[in-house]
Amino acid sequence: MKKAIVVGSGAGGATVSKELQGHFDVTVLEAGKKFHPFSLDLRVPERLKKLGLLFDERLIQLIFPITRIRKCDDRMILVKGIGYGGTTTISTGNAIRKDENLKKIGIDLDDEFEEIYQEIPVTADHHRLWHNPTQRLFEICKEMNLDPNPTPKMGNYERCRSCGRCVLGCPHGVKWDSRRFLLTAMDKGARLMSGRRVEEVVIEGNEARGVLAKHRGRRKFFPADLVILAAGGFGTPQILKNSGIDCEPNLFVDPVLCVAVEWRGSHQNQEIPMPFFVQKEHFILSPYFDHLSFFFNRQWNHSPQNILSMMIKLADNNIGDISKRKVKKDLSDQDKERLEEAVSICKEILLRHGAKKEDMFLGTINAGHPGGMLPLSEFEAESIHNPRLPENLYVADATLLPKSLGNPPILTIIALAKRVSKVCINLKA
Ligand SMILES: Cc1cc2nc3c(=O)[nH]c(=O)nc-3n(C[C@H](O)[C@H](O)[C@H](O)COP(=O)(O)OP(=O)(O)OC[C@H]3O[C@@H](n4cnc5c(N)ncnc54)[C@H](O)[C@@H]3O)c2cc1C
Ligand code: SF4
Repeated sequence: MKKAIVVGSGAGGATVSKELQGHFDVTVLEAGKKFHPFSLDLRVPERLKKLGLLFDERLIQLIFPITRIRKCDDRMILVKGIGYGGTTTISTGNAIRKDENLKKIGIDLDDEFEEIYQEIPVTADHHRLWHNPTQRLFEICKEMNLDPNPTPKMGNYERCRSCGRCVLGCPHGVKWDSRRFLLTAMDKGARLMSGRRVEEVVIEGNEARGVLAKHRGRRKFFPADLVILAAGGFGTPQILKNSGIDCEPNLFVDPVLCVAVEWRGSHQNQEIPMPFFVQKEHFILSPYFDHLSFFFNRQWNHSPQNILSMMIKLADNNIGDISKRKVKKDLSDQDKERLEEAVSICKEILLRHGAKKEDMFLGTINAGHPGGMLPLSEFEAESIHNPRLPENLYVADATLLPKSLGNPPILTIIALAKRVSKVCINLKA
């Protein structure tokens, strides 16, 4: 059987591995290791914060190694997950279909989404888990004609314990993440090799021969008939560039900013994050306790159970680039204007909830939806393959998205990865 190397085991990589195994002999090369949810009582980092020891977001890696942080010049924090399941393990479990822009360029993923809904349990039936302030925020959004909707979630939420730890890895196995697809792939015979950081694709003529990966300080060549890069919106462009393939400086990240207030007994930190959302043209709004701001932003100096916060997730302009040492990603003037508009809506919601404007405080801008640096266009609608790639090299992650979704991207990435797999299986035939 022909050999396929899949790089990464997040949303895209785990999907491709599951779909391809059996048609190809799949080896998954994963830079990280086995994922374990954050196991410490959150009072431990809270104590470290009080002692002034949490002064830089990058310190989170010491206590929760899957989470990797980079800082942009304008101090925006970029978050990704390195380990089995990639960033999906630290996601909030939101399951939003967002493929309008792909449809516009001729990529119809209806079949793939249908498959996804057969394979991943998705539910918006979690009202019973909402606390009173959340219920009130929902009513206020309705009064303001913002058309809020309960957020569809991936997983078996009838077992959810409302612990609020989704972004730290669900300790109760409720939330779906891509390790489930990875396990299916391995049950079918795929091989998973951890601690293999792929550096470049070895290309001869118009053919990828395999990849070079670093393991315990040594570089090793892994030969393959087919290579699929799914190292995420930051990882894949870096590998492509190392392999002599240019990407577009079109990086988007979906910046997140929270507007918060002290609200005694809100217990938002012990509730499912993002229980409902408001969809606006350039951003979404959703209740969210921002652990990153709570631990590292000095303005977040109230007890966690007494903070009530609304999150803004922005569809940012596709302007940005990444190199080994640096991420160049500044908010454009338009991004800033849109953020300001969103902040004033959040403030109005919190005012109606009973908060005072002078008591409101902002979070740290952070982002965890990178993509867009090898964007699909109408010319690749059939092939899902950028002509600058060798014939047997594919990308199957957020790097392919033509524009920021400003929305949770996991389902859309999975749908695209399924399409990439179908194309590769057809090629083989
Ligand atoms: C806090 C947070 C919450 C989120 N919540 C949601 C949500 O609720 N719903 C949603 O849809 N999205 C959410 N997202 C975004 C979502 O998790 C990511 O957009 C998605 O996982 C990206 O999929 P991907 O396949 O592109 O990359 P990833 O899932 O990041 O996978 C990349 C994989 O490649 C591996 N890798 C990286 N570099 C290398 C290398 N050089 N060699 C080998 N392996 C490598 C990584 O370890 C990882 O396994 C959230 C993100 C964050 C940060
Ligand atoms: S809130 Fe529910 S889904 Fe989230 S970590 Fe806790 S048990 Fe898991």
